[in-house]
Amino acid sequence: MPKAVSLSSPIAEKIAWVRDAHDQYGKRLLSEPVIYGALSELKAAVRASREEMNRTGVGEICRICEVEEGGSCCGAGLENRYDGWLLLINRLLGITLPTVPWRPDACFFLGRTGCLLWARHVICINYLCKKITHTIPSARLKTLRQQEGVEIEILFALKERIKTCLKKWTTD
Ligand code: SF4
Repeated sequence: MPKAVSLSSPIAEKIAWVRDAHDQYGKRLLSEPVIYGALSELKAAVRASREEMNRTGVGEICRICEVEEGGSCCGAGLENRYDGWLLLINRLLGITLPTVPWRPDACFFLGRTGCLLWARHVICINYLCKKITHTIPSARLKTLRQQEGVEIEILFALKERIKTCLKKWTTD
């Protein structure tokens, strides 16, 4: 197992850890039915959240803000909230993590067309700016909030399962 990284490690070190952990254990993790199943559930939950974002109009507000108004919520430094486990989940989902940021003033994981990650931090999943909460009544956001809750629950359980497997395999 590559040397562990902490939450306070620089993002480049976390990404290097993910690369090594994925090289060594990626296939084995994906061959665990419980992990493979949870990754599929997570994908479906993320898709459902995105569909709900579009249905409520949140997606369009974000698109206009990002493309026409310069965007602001995915600021530089937010990537530091991510630990290696969450990034490893993204790698297991087939995401190629960047090696340089697209924009120096933005989160390391922001790409030209939005967030590059599928498995996102609770802060990223839950955040709704004032523009959204002032435009869309909270009753219309209820299903989106519920769907985000499903996403967060799956993510939490998946992270624990991956940790348990890697601990077991590296101490056997
Ligand atoms: S949503 Fe994605 S790009 Fe935005 S802050 Fe979160 S990780 Fe970064």
